[in-house]
Amino acid sequence: MDSGFAPVIQLCNVMKVFSTDEIETHALSDVTLNVSRGEYVSIAGPSGCGKSTLLSIIGLLESATSGVYELNGRPVTDLTAGERARIRNREIGFIFQSFNLIGDLTVLENVELPLSYRGMTPRERRDRASEALERVGMGHRAKHVPSQLSGGQQQRVAVARAVAGEPVLLLADEPTGNLDSKSGESVMELLRELHESGATICMVTHDPRYAKHATRHVHLFDGRVVNTESDLSERHQMHAGVLGSMEESRPRLSKLSNDRSRG
Ligand code: ADP
Ligand code: MG
Repeated sequence: MDSGFAPVIQLCNVMKVFSTDEIETHALSDVTLNVSRGEYVSIAGPSGCGKSTLLSIIGLLESATSGVYELNGRPVTDLTAGERARIRNREIGFIFQSFNLIGDLTVLENVELPLSYRGMTPRERRDRASEALERVGMGHRAKHVPSQLSGGQQQRVAVARAVAGEPVLLLADEPTGNLDSKSGESVMELLRELHESGATICMVTHDPRYAKHATRHVHLFDGRVVNTESDLSERHQMHAGVLGSMEESRPRLSKLSNDRSRG
């Protein structure tokens, strides 16, 4: 397939079932979703509705139980384990709610780590990592270890780690969930800059203040996409309201799905 116009992400009837002991959990029931290059998509929905599972599948950390997932026009089931690892390492950046930094490595070493699987010279690695840390305003903390930093600073380092490899796709799972609002704002500002510089972003957030930075909002409920809507900039304010009242508007699905059309 010519990838020129193809969406980066194409999920078609994706289902994910976790089987543990006697319990089957349908984390995703029937998700169909396309994300084009350069989009900034926010994903919202109540706890347990499948948001993290969706990101894990998109990021090749989990496989769908059924349905088709094409990444850059290629069904991911065709990828070898080596190709999956390569794509995860080179094309996708992850930011998790809990930072996931390695405690006994310095800030610089944490950011360098994913680059070390890429056959870069140590010098090149160091330069890239330092540059990413400067970009998030953490260059002056390069020699600290994570425990010496505030939550907001740790998340900035995690953002640096995610972007040091210049991923084409950035996946963020409640990246501000553990941050005070000031740190949250600055992490969001970073994501916005990345988006402006061309990255495709999928971000899970339940916070309408942060979701408003996205260009499209996807709402999940019980493992299904119940609504997806694009922003025209003048509709931004309105969408903050829509997200804010999402819980109350849940049952009115027919009304929500009528709202797909856009200018
Ligand atoms: P969210 O991120 O929206 O809170 P998740 O995607 O984490 O939701 O989880 C969706 C559902 O799948 C939940 O019921 C959760 O308990 C279940 N689930 C997620 N991961 C696993 C797993 N590894 N094993 C079993 N069940 C899981
Ligand atoms: Mg989650």
